[in-house]
Amino acid sequence: MSQCKLCLGEKELIKKSHIIPDFMYKDLFDNRHKIRAFSPLQRLKGEGFVKMPSSGEYEGGLLCADCDGKKIGSYEDYAKKAIYGGPLRKSISPICKNFIDPKGLKFTICENIEYRRFKLFILSILWRSSISKREFFKDIDLGKHEEIIRRMLIEGDPGRIDDYPISFMTFLNDKKMSNDIIAQPRRIENKDGISSFVFIISGMIYRIYINSEEKNIPKEVIENTLSEKNKMTILQIPEGTGMDFLMRFAGIDTRKKNH
Ligand SMILES: [Zn+2]
Repeated sequence: MSQCKLCLGEKELIKKSHIIPDFMYKDLFDNRHKIRAFSPLQRLKGEGFVKMPSSGEYEGGLLCADCDGKKIGSYEDYAKKAIYGGPLRKSISPICKNFIDPKGLKFTICENIEYRRFKLFILSILWRSSISKREFFKDIDLGKHEEIIRRMLIEGDPGRIDDYPISFMTFLNDKKMSNDIIAQPRRIENKDGISSFVFIISGMIYRIYINSEEKNIPKEVIENTLSEKNKMTILQIPEGTGMDFLMRFAGIDTRKKNH
């Protein structure tokens, strides 16, 4: 018996909790059922992708069966059906439409995404990454926010729109980009010192902003994030710039100097 990290009860803990659920790696498995991970250094050598040795990132001794299967499982179940299709009530079955703004930037607006379970699902990946001891998640440490998000997850409370808002981007529409890329999640600070954690999974980029008392989350993040109206905007990374984006994410600047 050990303490479950989510309900804090003394329980039998399960041996295999996924940090990022398997279904998000859909399309990620190559014919040997191994995940292709993005490696910027290999890329510089002209190779680009390395094979990770396992079928995903998981570990034991974190959660009891109820917390993993029922609590987090209920958020996962919704997200899986919302993303890949499955039986859902019409009001929470996402409908997405593409748009182009006057500057030519493409974006997608999705409606009928259940605010509560979809937001808690993304926050559960962030929280699991924070409690994980695996090397892959070493950059994800939530500090005092780990306890706040734990309570949100156990109580099923997604908070307000501006609590840990998530921005969504994608390079799925960039035909030059492989959509089976997973990059090591990172903590990023913007120029105003606001922290966020970024996950790149199967062509989608999830950036979760961390609230602080002194600094406000950027207005455009709140405008585009998943709202209580079950609506969100996904920004599309302009075609042909996806690889630059990834390399910058990995801390390697590929843009040519101007002189
Ligand atoms: Zn538990």
